Amino acid sequence: MFSGLLDQSILKRAAERNLVEIHIHDLRDFTLNKHKKIDDYAFGGGAGMVLMIEPIDKCIDRLKSERDYDEIIYMSPDGEKLSQSISNQLSLNKNMILLCGHYKGVDERVRKHLITREISIGDYVLTGGELPAAVVADSVIRLLPGVMNDETSALTDSFQDNLVAPPVYTRPAKYKNWEVPEILTSGHQAKVDEWRFDQQVKRTAEKRPGMINKKD
Ligand code: SAH
Repeated sequence: MFSGLLDQSILKRAAERNLVEIHIHDLRDFTLNKHKKIDDYAFGGGAGMVLMIEPIDKCIDRLKSERDYDEIIYMSPDGEKLSQSISNQLSLNKNMILLCGHYKGVDERVRKHLITREISIGDYVLTGGELPAAVVADSVIRLLPGVMNDETSALTDSFQDNLVAPPVYTRPAKYKNWEVPEILTSGHQAKVDEWRFDQQVKRTAEKRPGMINKKD
């Protein structure tokens, strides 16, 4: 599940240049039973297996003995919804654990006692926490200094400053009958900047009306 994240060009280069380290841990390595079982039936019955607390506790304990963690985050559909401002915040952390659930989720005592935060990537349910964890990792890693080629480029994306991004164009200036706004090829940088800002405000009002004036 993580190969996409790790092989993808920008993040792969970030890892190769030691700007980030990602370690993947298999909960089965922290089981004591010989079948390496990490899930069991839910108390009270009902369909679906539950991830047991012991392997998770042991795994977190081991990791905490190796380094300090700013956050231990459980990926959960009912968690705080991921946003650019949360990614910005997380990008200031040094070390984080992202705990991925499976099946029906994790034993509730994990959520109560072992983690510091819960994050959701949206109001829909996936089969496991790996894709959500990869989404969090991608959105955070691209903010780390040096990861993007042009350092300002992550700052001019949507949601920074509570505005969506302006439209972008590249060559050719005319394709079929579709032309690029003249101002962009005019060479007047101040006018281009003004046009972009106007577009951002206009687009935000159209596409994310609730976002303008939002403070966070
Ligand atoms: N029974 C749970 C869903 C479990 S889905 C419920 O109804 O809330 C299995 C696992 O996938 C979860 O433990 C969680 O780690 C992960 N997951 C699924 N959807 C997610 C989402 N939208 N955001 C974050 N994690 C999610």
